[in-house]
Amino acid sequence: MAREARVLLSRNRGRLKLSTSSFGGEADAPPMLRSLSSPALPAAEAPSASSTRPSTSAEPFGMENLALPGLEAPKRVPLPPPGLAAAALASAYIPLALRDDLPRDLDGLGAMVAGCRKCGLCETRTKTVFADGSPLSKLVFVGEAPGRDEDLSGLPFVGRAGQLLDKMIAAIDMKREEVYICNVLKCRPPDNRTPAPEEVAQCRPYLEQQLALLRPVVICALGLSAVQALLETKATMASMRGKTFSFRGIPLIPTYHPAALLRNPGLKRDAWIDLQRVRDLVRSVG
Ligand code: SF4
Repeated sequence: MAREARVLLSRNRGRLKLSTSSFGGEADAPPMLRSLSSPALPAAEAPSASSTRPSTSAEPFGMENLALPGLEAPKRVPLPPPGLAAAALASAYIPLALRDDLPRDLDGLGAMVAGCRKCGLCETRTKTVFADGSPLSKLVFVGEAPGRDEDLSGLPFVGRAGQLLDKMIAAIDMKREEVYICNVLKCRPPDNRTPAPEEVAQCRPYLEQQLALLRPVVICALGLSAVQALLETKATMASMRGKTFSFRGIPLIPTYHPAALLRNPGLKRDAWIDLQRVRDLVRSVG
């Protein structure tokens, strides 16, 4: 009996050794084992969305719908990446306060903008473009500057890019009237050129006052120029996309400008990922 027991024990040890060594080390473990045994990365440090793309399904606004569990609803505002100026780093964490030198209501601020002649763009504009949407919204989209259609109508995002933005908003189960839309610059740069730094510097106080009055839950910055102006950085979109920043205490999520999505539809995948994070952040505060 004792001999049979020793033989059985020896066989079981051999099977056990075979089953544990067949996956080798951690790198050879099946994905399920690796994900359980590896420490979880914070949201801000998780692999980029482009490196974790799952298979695609429906199309929310002319793009594939991507389900990315774990990437949505950032729980905290991570530090900005290297490349942000030290001053911007410091100012990012100074809460946005109302300015005493500008009207403390949106109507008054809009009226002041309509008569503004602080920079040269007042010479070529048709209409100033202050904002559209609900001042009660938790979500504010900030673009770069008005284009031709916006300059003529006095409303932001009404051309082809605006129509795509409407679809993007609908994709996160909201309506244009339920969000607030504005630009960094309130007047159109000629030929839609990139805003000059001095123009941004002159116009930025209006935007800051707008945002201080609105106090949104999240800002979605549309396009590199808007992101750079808000965060006062020269960092690239590639280095900032997929992260959540702080604009004076308000979470800011960068994404591509709808005009860029029209030029390069391949970017829509990443834009949809960004929008899902925006949506989840809005929903997370009820
Ligand atoms: S762009 Fe801004 S600062 Fe320049 S004129 Fe228009 S409202 Fe004034």
